[in-house]
Amino acid sequence: MKRRASYGPERRQMVEKQLRARGIRDSSLLEAFLEVPRHRFVPDKWVERAYDDGPIPIGHDQTVSQPYMIAAMVQAARVSPGNRVLEIGTGSGYQAALLSAMKAQVFTVERIPELADQAATRLDELGHRDVEVRVADGTLGWEEFAPFKSVIVGAASPRIPEPLLQQLGETGRLVIPVGRDYSQVLHVVTRRGDGYRTKRAERCIFVPLIGKFAWKRKPAVH
Ligand code: SAM
Repeated sequence: MKRRASYGPERRQMVEKQLRARGIRDSSLLEAFLEVPRHRFVPDKWVERAYDDGPIPIGHDQTVSQPYMIAAMVQAARVSPGNRVLEIGTGSGYQAALLSAMKAQVFTVERIPELADQAATRLDELGHRDVEVRVADGTLGWEEFAPFKSVIVGAASPRIPEPLLQQLGETGRLVIPVGRDYSQVLHVVTRRGDGYRTKRAERCIFVPLIGKFAWKRKPAVH
């Protein structure tokens, strides 16, 4: 499929109708959505649907999440310039590009090597050369670069992985969908010293987080 040059009008419409109208207010996040070309993160056959209000398949049974869901998670994580952010589930690299556009220091972990490679190449091509991409089980976090100001998990877990809690810095925030197969709730955990406060936010549906501290393998329905 031939790609049109910019998709600027589609991006502006996505920001107004899908994000601002639903309560996304973080101005640097909205700017990042205007800036990052989502159509560069989806397979060719999905390019014309890149700015639709939903997730898009990216191969290997995975998706790039719905724009609103990404926005809700990043907004809940309260990302500021210079913050060290750990993303679990690189997928297409789109969310990592948004975080990079917000001037965060991004560390992203993906368990499927082909997706991680593609994402790293795209991020590089688009000038996000400061994003560190790693192939590994993200439920273990990324000890070497901890503590993190924010941890954002883009896949659903039956529980909150303990290493991710341990790698949160003082006042850090962890955002993760928790629940079963097709029914999860976004959890926002804030660290205060040695304690954690958990708030339950909205309902959501994500692909499973597969690893030592989450699902041991794909749940049957996926
Ligand atoms: N935010 C991503 C984007 O912008 O494209 C989409 C994330 S996608 C919904 C979830 C990703 O989590 C998939 O690519 C999947 O392979 C990955 N994943 C699942 N379990 C994982 C684990 N234990 N460690 C790292 N990545 C994992």
